[in-house]
Parts: sequence; C-alpha cells; structure tokens
Amino acid sequence: MIVDAQLIHATPEVNTSPAQKFSSRYTLEILNVINSLVGEKGAAALLRAAGLLEKLPPKLTHRHENTIPYVYLANLFRSLDFIYGPRGARSIAYQIGKQSFEPAFGSFDIVANTRAKQEKLFSTAEKLEIALCTLAEISAQSSDQHIVLADHTDHFRFTVGNCPICSVPMNVDLPICYFNVGYLRGGLQSILGLNDFPIQETECMAKGDPACVFTIRKKRFTINEIGNGLTGFLALPEHLREE
Ligand SMILES: [Zn+2]
Repeated sequence: MIVDAQLIHATPEVNTSPAQKFSSRYTLEILNVINSLVGEKGAAALLRAAGLLEKLPPKLTHRHENTIPYVYLANLFRSLDFIYGPRGARSIAYQIGKQSFEPAFGSFDIVANTRAKQEKLFSTAEKLEIALCTLAEISAQSSDQHIVLADHTDHFRFTVGNCPICSVPMNVDLPICYFNVGYLRGGLQSILGLNDFPIQETECMAKGDPACVFTIRKKRFTINEIGNGLTGFLALPEHLREE
C-alpha cells in the first residue's frame, strides 16, 4: 500500500469502448508539428505507413471536437517506430507532444487562469500542482482519458487511464509514451514558463500495466545535473532526460 500518496485531482471516469475518441483540433496541431519536424514528404510517408492517408477527414476541424478514433493516433506513433527506429521515434514522439501543446491549448481560458494564479504562489511545488491539475483537465477534455493526480511527498504521480497511444496492443517491455512526457513538459513550459522538472514514465499500458503512470519530481534539475550534461534527452537515465 502506498502511504505517502494524497489524491489531489481526478477527472470523471469515462466508458472504455473501442470507439474512444481524440480531439480533432489537437490531431491537426500534432500533424502540423510532424510536418515541421520531418517535412511534408516525411509526414506523408508516416500517414501512409499508418494507413491514414484515406482515413483522416480531408479537413480536420479547428474545433476541439472529439471525433478522431484513438486507433488512428496509436497507428501514427507505431509508424514512427517503423520508419525511424525506436531511438528516432522516441525523440520525435517526445517533440510532437511538447511542441503541440501551445498551438492546441495555449489560448484556453483554463491555461490563462492557471498562468495568472501560479504567479501569486511562492512554492514551486504549489505551482507545479495547479499546473498539473490543469493538464489533467485538458487531457480529459480533449480525449477519453481519465486522469488521477496524486501527491507523493517528493513527486507527483500523473496516472493516465485510456491512453490513446497505447490503445493498440504492443509487445514491449518498456514504457513507450514519450508523446505524453512531451505533453507534460510542453504544458508546464506553457503554464509555468518552467521546463526543467524531471519526468519519467514508470508504468505503461503498452507493456501490460493497467494505466500509464508518469512521475514528476518536485525538485527541478539541479545545477549539478545540468552541469554534468545529465539533462540530455537521449544520453541519460530515463527519469532525467530532457532534450
Ligand atoms: Zn500510454
């Protein structure tokens, strides 16, 4: 039993069904970021490999309507692996998550309100907590994800039920949701202007766990960690990686 955990936020439970959906606007911004990262030809190759060239609506709506089946997202991220190999895919998925937050959600009222609220707070842990509550709300609104946020003394635990990236079964031994790590980091950057909290995925539905679980350390990277090059995204133990 975990004794130091204090539940601080949970979004409403949703029905788990094969028809789980993801925001159209968010999908559009994800595709825009993919375009900027790998170019138009690369993006087209990715969509083709994912079997999405014909399936995606010709015009994705700019509204946040949850109309895109989870399986489309899962196949898109699977194709990254197929085309770029696990290492390249990991880095690209992380960048997609990080860079798509601001264009997709940066103008939300809830983001503006949390930005204003956090400025009045003194402690970094309190700032982090309200920012993570907001990120939980946004995840739940823009998909069928169910988020539980808990306080564990030196870190927060952000549990994602019904993860879109993991909605297609995979035979893996390690967590694969680098997109969600990027989402959290891009979200914290957008809300707090801080991008240096170590984030690690510890459990993942793709490897058979019941949910995808992310730990966010309350203490930011130390000068020592940064000075020792310990924040490089690919060269580090996973919990310390930053690009
Ligand atoms: Zn996942």
